[in-house]
Amino acid sequence: MKRKNSPFKIVVVVTLVIVALIIALVVISNNNSESDQGMTFEKQPSTEGQPTLGDTNAPVTVVEFGDFKCPACKVWGTDIFPQLVSDYVDTGKVKFSFINVLFHGQESKLGSLAAETVYKQNPNAYWDFHKALFKEQPSENHDSSWITTEKILEVASTVPEINTDKLKAAIENNSEINEVNKDSELVTEFNVEVTPTIMVNGKVMEDPYDYDAIQKAIEDALEEN
Ligand code: CA
Repeated sequence: MKRKNSPFKIVVVVTLVIVALIIALVVISNNNSESDQGMTFEKQPSTEGQPTLGDTNAPVTVVEFGDFKCPACKVWGTDIFPQLVSDYVDTGKVKFSFINVLFHGQESKLGSLAAETVYKQNPNAYWDFHKALFKEQPSENHDSSWITTEKILEVASTVPEINTDKLKAAIENNSEINEVNKDSELVTEFNVEVTPTIMVNGKVMEDPYDYDAIQKAIEDALEEN
């Protein structure tokens, strides 16, 4: 006896279709949440007015969206950055810019404000201050409060080119807040959701710790030039 179109069969088919749809939706939404990883923006973030290391005419631009409060950024700065600098920045192939991200609230904002102020005061002092401030990030309990004006002035006093009195006054007056806000606009514009986000000529690195992939992106970009 044929049991064509039995109610049971229909229920099974409908259930399978629903399950398939749910799986498809989950896959699509997962892909969307990672959509900026590995993608390339047609227009890369403007580095005008940003602290930039290397030859300003270098053919390739690497941008870091980072946060002084972010432990992963500190690790990137010690494990990847020096290699990038010696291989590509020092050889004139890459210029490197740092854009502030304020994912850790008030302390991120204070650190960024201080860094922007140092940059404004003396661009040559910026990278030493940048490195010294990251160095102060505690290796444990990084969520504990550590970016304070006192800490900033202590760090700044180790960099000879910085006038700490002027720095203190400028921080208290929020003098460079527009630069901090400009960076936040770039974070929104480029949909930055994780720090560090590393871009090579607008291409977002899927894994910022994969130096081979960064190298490949740079070499590809050099060939396009
Ligand atoms: Ca900036």
